[in-house]
Amino acid sequence: MRNDTLFGKIIRREIPATIVYEDEEVLGFKDIAPQAPVHVLFIPKNELIPTLDDLQPAQAHLIGKLALAAAGYARREGFAQNGYRIVMNCREDAGQTVFHIHLHLLAGAPLGQFGAA
Ligand code: 5GP
Repeated sequence: MRNDTLFGKIIRREIPATIVYEDEEVLGFKDIAPQAPVHVLFIPKNELIPTLDDLQPAQAHLIGKLALAAAGYARREGFAQNGYRIVMNCREDAGQTVFHIHLHLLAGAPLGQFGAA
């Protein structure tokens, strides 16, 4: 299935993004509207999975790949010791706006607690 989401277009370089990480399966790029000093999105490149709720058991390794890519980036950029947060929003109540799964990596300052307002 062709990935016609915004992030599919970023994967195909049809729209620009500041790419900070890439391997065979994962792409990492800066969020256009950062919610922290560091805000990077990590996405699977080869499979279109709209939400975490759509993830199939055979695709489970992809979530680990996204997490490892985020952790590696944090170490290389020097903020792993201070800490960071990873977030994956699923559907409306979580505020998901792009329906191709993505891991948010937030860091660079103490992050507030979160939950229902
Ligand atoms: P969601 O709310 O679906 O979990 O996260 C989608 C994220 O994509 C948001 O944080 C939003 O700022 C980011 N975003 C939306 N449009 C673009 C874009 O064109 N380029 C980049 N780099 N990020 C985007």
